[in-house]
Amino acid sequence: MSNENPFENARKQLDDCARILKLDAGTHEFLRNPVREFHVSIPVRMDDGRIKVFQGFRVQYNDALGPTKGGIRFHPDETIDTVRALAAWMTWKCSLMGLPLGGGKGGVICNPKELSAGEQERLCRGYVDAIWQNFGPDKDVPAPDVYTTPQMMAWMMDQYSKLSGQNNFGCITGKPLCVGGSCGRSDATARGGMYALREAAKELNIDLKKATMAIQGYGNAGSYAHSLAIELFGSRVVAVSDSKGGVYDPTGIEPEVAGRIKAETSSVVNIPQGDKISNEELLELDVDILVAAALENVITAENAGRIKAKIIVELANGPTTPEADEILYLNRVHVIPDFLANAGGVTVSYFEMVQNIMRYCWSFDEVYQKLDQRMTMAYRSVFDASRKYEINMRQAAYTVAVARVVEAMKIRGWV
Ligand code: NAD
Repeated sequence: MSNENPFENARKQLDDCARILKLDAGTHEFLRNPVREFHVSIPVRMDDGRIKVFQGFRVQYNDALGPTKGGIRFHPDETIDTVRALAAWMTWKCSLMGLPLGGGKGGVICNPKELSAGEQERLCRGYVDAIWQNFGPDKDVPAPDVYTTPQMMAWMMDQYSKLSGQNNFGCITGKPLCVGGSCGRSDATARGGMYALREAAKELNIDLKKATMAIQGYGNAGSYAHSLAIELFGSRVVAVSDSKGGVYDPTGIEPEVAGRIKAETSSVVNIPQGDKISNEELLELDVDILVAAALENVITAENAGRIKAKIIVELANGPTTPEADEILYLNRVHVIPDFLANAGGVTVSYFEMVQNIMRYCWSFDEVYQKLDQRMTMAYRSVFDASRKYEINMRQAAYTVAVARVVEAMKIRGWV
């Protein structure tokens, strides 16, 4: 992964879009910055009795379209600029999907793998104690992201409910089913990405049944992408990886095997078949579809020219740098950009909020159908804009999304 600053990249992408949309300088400047952000210190009593202080962030990037929405990451390398970039992308993502929501993101600098369950719970509750007056269903609604789980969302919802004095299930999404979670939330990001991939394959005349696929990152997004690619299309997944490295087997890797080995040994690198490969090698494999489902800045100017996939599905946020984007576009690699490809997660999160507020309980089929409709509509609007303006898919997604946010800001009288 390169050390490029993801917020600078997010700004470059926006600047590009501002030129296409001919935004006035004031509106453009406003969109380059978060509306508000919170930096908090969270004291946590560790199991050995010491107090350890964790640094946390919450960025509410833009709420012109509605309350902000976005995940919370627990990561040792978390930075405020990563959170700002992710919050900006959430703004464009919610807008692109036609959701009545703005964009936000949160993060805590920590390594949850080194924390006991009790320490994790106290950290989650401490994060809510620090920011609860600034979140809630009408302000800002968090969700899980890298290294945060449904259990953590339940602790956070419980803490918010205690502090606000009411059972407020709609204050946070990605919860377990028994406390207001939605059917279909766990695989929503990957499922949405696969629906978008299905639409892209139609446009490019690629038969997904015969297609090969490599998946970088084997967490929530990547592992579900693996099983859904097989379940929905019958594609052949020939490579998978995680932070410890990857495996390549041209005969295909079964999701049951990868899932079991990951659960038993904590890494897919121990799958006893095929060849061991690095994460860098996986990106450059000769496959039809590349699914980027790990972290940001993995496809850069340095390696973009060697990417052989016909379609890249960006389930991760910000995996491709702006310089790499230009190279991929010239090489006719069809990129389904992050805030379109991974929008299934926030879309089902939005369904979860709606169900909580209205006390609905939708079935799996209702959720899948509603998700499919929104993903297909969003993919079509981006693809059509990319053809109309002769721009790449990311620029097209920005154009559609930013124009809607600007329209709301203008109608509200902000700019
Ligand atoms: P996760 O924590 O479940 O999994 C992350 C995976 O990436 C793990 O398998 C980890 O081993 C791997 N990884 C970490 N560093 C890596 C590296 N340097 N090289 C290769 N693999 C590495 O996280 P997730 O929820 O699957 O999220 C993955 C990406 O998808 C993130 O960018 C996240 O922001 C994005 N995303 C997730 C969701 C969601 O609903 N889960 C929604 C939208 C976007």
